[in-house]
Amino acid sequence: MLDNIRIVLVQTFHPGNIGQAARAMKTMGLTNLVLVNPRCFPDAEATRLAAGAEDVVESARVVSDLKDAVADCVQVVGASARLRSMPLPHYAEPEDMAREVTHNAAHDPVALVFGRERSGLTNDEINCCSHQVSIPANPEYGILNLSQAVQVLAYEVFRAWRHRPDSSFQHQTPSNGRPPTREQLEHFHAHLQQVMQESGFLTQPHARTEAQLQALFARAQPSRRELSLLRGFLSAVAPK
Ligand code: SAH
Repeated sequence: MLDNIRIVLVQTFHPGNIGQAARAMKTMGLTNLVLVNPRCFPDAEATRLAAGAEDVVESARVVSDLKDAVADCVQVVGASARLRSMPLPHYAEPEDMAREVTHNAAHDPVALVFGRERSGLTNDEINCCSHQVSIPANPEYGILNLSQAVQVLAYEVFRAWRHRPDSSFQHQTPSNGRPPTREQLEHFHAHLQQVMQESGFLTQPHARTEAQLQALFARAQPSRRELSLLRGFLSAVAPK
């Protein structure tokens, strides 16, 4: 199950942070690392600071777009010290995040996404996420080093996994409650936009309306089955 939990680092500047993040992951049983456009990788400093977690560094997958890193995930949690304008569901307590993430990871891939050392995650990147989490910290000095943020959240996930309800509970998850992947959600939004334009409701692409609807569905967290019901309706209104 921990294999289904992916740590995604976006455009890491210092390769040493990649090594330290890998070490933090491995201590908590996580090995699935994805790097989005790292500035410098592979790198000797990353390997050196992994200190025993070289295998995690060596097996890291490098991709050029955050969307590709999380397309197959049913839950994508962006770690951010500050809340951005996107009103995504937010976990103020990492413990609550870890409980839901480990629950979803019993069946499907999930991701925790970490931003750049200097500037964190952009609004577009937060938009690729289904949730946000922040680590409670000193209000006057609350930004952790990247690998330490990975350590804290990986620890919470490991703890939630150790204390998970027994396996019989996990098998009970009804298939109609299964969340859609980010890719399925993206196709739904594209379809919705198309129907809104073809029906004349929108006369041109309208980013604000799109963002509002994305926020609405992010809050509603429709299941896979509910989403396919909506897509069926859209197809009936305006076949693709
Ligand atoms: N200067 C950046 C922060 C970069 S710290 C900013 O202001 O956004 C690098 C990354 O570590 C962040 O993008 C975030 O993913 C994670 N991080 C650091 N402190 C955090 C906190 N208190 N809560 C959640 N994530 C945090």
